[in-house]
Amino acid sequence: MDSLRVRLQEAQASGKAIGHFNISDFVLLKAVFEAARGLHLPVIVGLSEGERAFVGTRQIASFVRSLREEFDFPIFLNADHTHSLAKAVEAAQAGFDSVVFDQSALPFEENIRQTRLAVESLKSINPEILVEGEIGDIGTGSEIHESSPDLSKGLSTPAEAKQFVDATGVDILAPAVGNMHGMLKSMVEGRATKHLDIARIADIKRLTRSLLTLHGGSGTNDEDFRKAIAAGINIVHINTELRVAWRDGLESSLRDHPEDVVPYKLLPAAIDRVQLVVASRLRLFNNESEFARGA
Ligand SMILES: [Zn+2]
Repeated sequence: MDSLRVRLQEAQASGKAIGHFNISDFVLLKAVFEAARGLHLPVIVGLSEGERAFVGTRQIASFVRSLREEFDFPIFLNADHTHSLAKAVEAAQAGFDSVVFDQSALPFEENIRQTRLAVESLKSINPEILVEGEIGDIGTGSEIHESSPDLSKGLSTPAEAKQFVDATGVDILAPAVGNMHGMLKSMVEGRATKHLDIARIADIKRLTRSLLTLHGGSGTNDEDFRKAIAAGINIVHINTELRVAWRDGLESSLRDHPEDVVPYKLLPAAIDRVQLVVASRLRLFNNESEFARGA
C-alpha cells in the first residue's frame, strides 16, 4: 500500500486533490469509506481532538487500519487540529498517517517554535508521518454560524508561508486564503457560497513548493474549488456539510419510522445522505464529472 505522501504526490502531479472528511462515529466513517470505494479514489478521514475524545484515538486507528487491510484500500487517517504536543504524540503512537499541529492562535514566532518541536518529536516516533502546520486565521468550529467573522486580517502572506515552512520543516501547510471553518445558514440553504483567494494560493505555492491543505471547505463555490486545486491545493477538508447531511438523514429516518428502534435499520438513511455528499465532493476534487461513473 502506497503511503499518504506518495498518494499526495500523485494527486499533485495529476492536478487533483485528496478529499479529507471529518468523522466522529461509525455512520460517518462508513459513508466516507463507501463513497471513496465506489469511486476508487484515495481518501483521508480526520478527527479533531474533540472527535477523537468521543471515538477513541487507538480505537479509530484500529478500525481504519482494518478497513485499509481487509479491502486493500487507500483510506488514511489524520489527527485534525491538534493543539497540544501530548495529543499529537498520542495520535502518532496510535499509527495515524498525519497530524495537523495547530498553534495558529499563537504569535507567529511562537507558532514556528512549537511547530518545529512537534515536527521533531513526531518524526522520532514515526519517520513516515506527515506533519501539517497552520498559519493565519480561518475561524473556529465546523458548525452553522449566524454571521461571518472578519478573517481578512488573518490571511496568510506568501512570505510568512515560506518562512514558516522553511523554519519548521512541516510536510504540509494550511494557509488562510479566504477559507473559513463552518458554514453560514445561507450556505446550508444553498443561497450563498464561500470564495477563495486563488492568486494568494498560487503565490504561496510558488514560493513554498509545499503540499497545501484547504481547511473549512464546506459551502465553497465549486469553481473556486477547481481553481484552488489547479493553483496548488492538495488536500481539501469537508466537515460541516457532512454534519448537516448526517442530521438530515437521521431526522428523516426517525420521522419515516416512528416506531422503529433498530439502529442498523434506522442509520443507513443517514449513511446514504452523507455518502452522496462525500461522493459529490470527491468527484469534484478529482476532476470527475457527476455522470462519469455509476457509483
Ligand atoms: Zn480545519
